[in-house]
Amino acid sequence: MCPLDSSRHLGYVSPGVYLMERLTGTVFRAHSGFFTVQTPAGALVCRLRGRLRKERLDTDIVAVGDRVVVEPAGDGTGLIVEVLPRTRVLSRRAPPAHPDDRRQVEQVIVANPDQAVFVFACAQPAPHLRMLDRLLVAAEAASLPALICANKVDLVTLEEAQALFGLYATIGYEVLYTSAKTGVGVDALRQRLTGKLSVLSGPSGVGKTSLLNAMQPGLGLQVREVSQATTKGRHTTVVPELVPIAGGGYVADTPGLRAMALWDIEPGELEAYFPDIRPFVAECEFSDCTHTHEPGCAVRAAVARGQIHPARYESLLRLRAEIEEELKKALR
Ligand code: GDP
Ligand code: ZN
Repeated sequence: MCPLDSSRHLGYVSPGVYLMERLTGTVFRAHSGFFTVQTPAGALVCRLRGRLRKERLDTDIVAVGDRVVVEPAGDGTGLIVEVLPRTRVLSRRAPPAHPDDRRQVEQVIVANPDQAVFVFACAQPAPHLRMLDRLLVAAEAASLPALICANKVDLVTLEEAQALFGLYATIGYEVLYTSAKTGVGVDALRQRLTGKLSVLSGPSGVGKTSLLNAMQPGLGLQVREVSQATTKGRHTTVVPELVPIAGGGYVADTPGLRAMALWDIEPGELEAYFPDIRPFVAECEFSDCTHTHEPGCAVRAAVARGQIHPARYESLLRLRAEIEEELKKALR
């Protein structure tokens, strides 16, 4: 993959500069048929070549994060002539066009994300760990490495913070303890984001905007703009804008991720996305064990022995019930 080019976020290609050459860049903003593409020569507002619109009927043709080839028109605008293959996507099931429509169309939230960063507060608001479990499943299902950011550590003791989030470190997720207020952990977070396209998610009020600002003073205004734009249509708008990171890389602030349907996950497949539960599943007596009542269930035995945290087991059962409910609705 080409290196991310946001460090060259130098403004728009000036009108009058005639560029015949095709350029490769990253889509960092999408708005009603227009895509703003960061290229090595600057940003270009682009339309999509007509022929491309007929391809990929089951998914979005171009999304934020896509690597594209553009043909500059010479006036600061351009035409997207090719969308490069995606490494992976973060998607959700698009809302049906009308209630009877059962087709499942994928709506891409972000193309080519490198990692997910899930931000929760140690306090104010108290962390909703069931939501974290849900986000982690979505990340596992998308093969997206996940990083957990436990913010507002200044409001609790380190012991309290670790009592809340330490479990996730034992499962194997990296947990960063940060405070946008005191600056603790902010350098470490910046380091993890540099050179990557990171999807940032978490409940509102946990300090996502404050962390982005703390990481790069001077970005302030821009971040505020983004979060206002995205909170306006909370339930409909899921398309984020990429915020460039000093030193290269982008952050996609995605409030819509919270509402994300667990796209494409079968109930029986869910346990595979719990790295702490997964190893025990093979030892269950029945291959279709639901880990609720069956004799010889290795998962329940592991919970009883303290090898699986009861809260994670509970999350698995709840999410499974949720997916089964969704399936029933779809078959009705
Ligand atoms: P967002 O909704 O996740 O973007 O959260 P904001 O960045 O808007 O922060 C919500 C509130 O929490 C604001 O009043 C911030 O000043 C406060 N806040 C953010 N980070 C911290 C932190 O590390 N410590 C403390 N004590 N407050 C914080
Ligand atoms: Zn079982």
